[in-house]
Order: sequence, then structure tokens, then C-alpha cells
Amino acid sequence: MLSIGIDLGGTKILIGLINDDGKIIHSLKKRTPASKRIDDIMNLTFETIDSAIADAGVDMKEISGIGVAAPGIVDEKNGVLLYAPNWNLRNIPVKRLLKDKFSIPVKVANDVNAAAIGELHFGHGKNENSFFWITISTGIGGALVVNGNLLLGNRGLAGEIGHMIIDDNGPDCTCGRKGCLEALASGTAIANLARKRISEGRKFLKINSEIKPEEITAETVVRAASNNDKEAFSLLKEVSGHISKALSYVVNLADIDLLVIGGGVMVNNEILFKLIEENLKHYVYEYQHRNIRLVSPQLGYNSSLIGAGALILKSKSL
Ligand SMILES: [Zn+2]
Repeated sequence: MLSIGIDLGGTKILIGLINDDGKIIHSLKKRTPASKRIDDIMNLTFETIDSAIADAGVDMKEISGIGVAAPGIVDEKNGVLLYAPNWNLRNIPVKRLLKDKFSIPVKVANDVNAAAIGELHFGHGKNENSFFWITISTGIGGALVVNGNLLLGNRGLAGEIGHMIIDDNGPDCTCGRKGCLEALASGTAIANLARKRISEGRKFLKINSEIKPEEITAETVVRAASNNDKEAFSLLKEVSGHISKALSYVVNLADIDLLVIGGGVMVNNEILFKLIEENLKHYVYEYQHRNIRLVSPQLGYNSSLIGAGALILKSKSL
């Protein structure tokens, strides 16, 4: 059987037909409608599903259901996207809308949880079924898998490492508090910190001085650090300390050894990867008696999409 995986991103809608082995047999990507209206987003999703099925030449009868990785807080039981910060939308009944349209089973999960589910069934989880997933992109999210089970908590908020407060006096966070990991170490935070330092007169020798402050991204900083820019390196070192500290809390609490680190900021970012790895030796209690490993996702960029498919393929009750 096949399932349809949907990765509803802040900026893109990715649809994939996923087989029992967790392989994507066909996929299609569209930009999220600029209007960010739910009707437009869902209509484009419906159309893209129809096109993907037609392009792949499969029959709807071969599809056992639709799994959705949704960007925000999800009520997984009822399949409702309670809050999507990127779209500033609330209470979207994703499951009902898709079920009404396609009349097949639908499951919805938060995109970070879906990525962890993807890795659990078709990636690193095949060898080790307890791990922590962390996404570092424009925001920071996490998901804890213990003995093959994703921890959801009472309301699906388990694993929210991005909103652990690391520094009481840190920068404002989108959640309304100060000094959360996300405000200190996300892609957005890295870019903001670089802009602030440049405005204070610090010299990033490998960042072109012609570049406008608003054009600086985390990637700009990472590239500069790779070219031996001392300021950029020291900025990443500071950021890595925050990430390692937060990860050490997870390790100390849950006693897991495998940390899977994904997200746009980590792409081609060997420097940050190595720094985080190094700091963990200091922050993790009894480090030398554990077997801590920091790894990239085995499914690459597709962990969430394949995980969305796995919500259906690996479900015990559809
Ligand atoms: Zn926060």
C-alpha cells in the first residue's frame, strides 16, 4: 500500500507518495499561497494531491490514507492545527477538511514530531529506538522518542526545546518571554545577533561590508565562519553553547544517547555541528560513561514528509 504524505511548511507545500519501505515514489512541491488564507492553502493542497496521484499514475484505491506534518501546535487526536505561527492561523480542522474531500483516513502531527516519526521508522530509529530530534531553522523544535514511542505529553507540547529559557536576560522570544533557546540560537537569532554586532562596530572580515543588514542570514554567518572569520566563529561558538546546554538537559533528564539534529541552519554547517558536539562533553552529566552521538537525519530533508506518510503506514488504528 501507499500513503500520501503532506509536509505543510511555512513557505511550501510538499506532497509525496510514500511506500511501505518509507521511499518517496513521487513528490510535488508548491509555494504556499501568499494570501496565507486557509481556504487558499487547503485548495492548493487538494489540487497538488490530485496532480501527484495523476502524475504517478496510481489509483486512489492503492492509497491507505493521508498523513500531514503541520507547522505548529497540533491536537493529534482530533487532527486540528491549533496554532500555526507562520500563518498566524488558529483552529484549522485539517483532518476533517481532507477527509471530506478524499474520504480516506487522515492523521495530522506537528512537523517536528513527524520528522522524528520518519526517523524512528525509516531512519536512525531502525537501529536505536530512543533518541531526541532537534530542528534548528527559522525556529527551534524538538521531539523525544523513548523505546520507540514519541512522547506527546498532556497536550502535545512535549519536546519543545526551543522554548526552554536558557538566559533570563536574553533577547525577546516570539512566545512573549525572554531568553528562550529559539531566541538565542535559531537561524533568525543568529542573523539578528550578527546584525547587532555589526551595528556595534564589530568587524566580520568575511562578510561583505556592502551587504545590507537585512540581507544577512544565518547562512551568511556560517559561510563567513567557514572562511576563518573570527567574529563569525565566535558568534557560532556562543550559539553552540546555548544549544548544547539545552540538549544536555534532555540527555540528563531522559538518559538517551542519540541526538538527531536537522533543519536549514545545520545544512553544510560542520562548524556548528562540531562545536555543539564538543560542548556536550562539558554540559552532560557523566558524559564519559554514556555513548552520546550527534548525527544528521538519515532521511535528509525528507524526514517530515516521510514521517507524515509513516503516520498512516505505521498506524495501528486507522
Ligand atoms: Zn520562547
